Amino acid sequence: MIAPVPVVTFTLGELLVDVATGSEAVPGAWGDRWHPSEDWSPAPSSVSALLGTAVPHPALLTLAGKLSASAVGMDTGLRVEVVDADRVVVACGERRFALGLAGGACTELCRQPDCERRMLETEVPWCSSHLFDLDLYSLVTAGRFWAEASHRSGEHERSSPDWPVEELMKAAVAVGAGEMMAETIVTAAFDDPHEPEQHDVPAEYGLVLRTRRAMGRERLRLWETARKEAARLRQAAGGCQGCRRELSRLEDGFGAGAYPQARPEYCSQACDPLPTARQRYLEGQQNGQARLQEDLPF
Ligand SMILES: [Zn+2]
Ligand SMILES: [Zn+2]
Repeated sequence: MIAPVPVVTFTLGELLVDVATGSEAVPGAWGDRWHPSEDWSPAPSSVSALLGTAVPHPALLTLAGKLSASAVGMDTGLRVEVVDADRVVVACGERRFALGLAGGACTELCRQPDCERRMLETEVPWCSSHLFDLDLYSLVTAGRFWAEASHRSGEHERSSPDWPVEELMKAAVAVGAGEMMAETIVTAAFDDPHEPEQHDVPAEYGLVLRTRRAMGRERLRLWETARKEAARLRQAAGGCQGCRRELSRLEDGFGAGAYPQARPEYCSQACDPLPTARQRYLEGQQNGQARLQEDLPF
């Protein structure tokens, strides 16, 4: 049961003081979930007047840690989005955090307001569903940030897990931008030995070969993910949404080793009414810059 929450804003500093001076909470509300055979006990909690409930200290301290890198620190503005029996959702600008009232976890959620799913990664702060709502510029930028974060200088393999990159590729393929996403990821995740400005001294030849091989392997992995996802979408669509020709009878566009430029539900770019991926990317970039200028305080 979700209680309606009046919009109340406060700062991180005010919240910490509120909890520090709040009365210690009796863990009765979740005491029945405790099982004597488990070595587990409720986290220490205090009642917060601002949040309207008792909040476990670990959740609050984790929230403070996650927000501590913010330039305004203790003055970071917060507002309560949801309070229910299990959690409180607090928002800070676009960022949203679920504070678990039983276990004391603090989970960063998808940036789409009202979405209850956790975000994929720090660099990809949406859930796998809402990635599909992003403009192409924001989607590709998230891919670049993620790939840069997965990059370890001197290492010639990506060590990060596959799942965020799979979700990014699927979202890009759905809008006919698989190639743009794949090249963005590969370029950001590796020091390309073909780019001489990356190195002050010539790279050791063994490292050049290993890096090229790893880049090729990454390109293949992304291409295979894209082809599989495109095949799934083509099968679901049945016929081209433009000319109605049956898609299963047509070449999928990946055969020549490249990526099709049209969305999977269309037989070709001639049938797809959307502008090219490059045009959509540039349009999103311009809109993003306009939004940034609106937010500037001067
Ligand atoms: Zn979401
Ligand atoms: Zn067509």
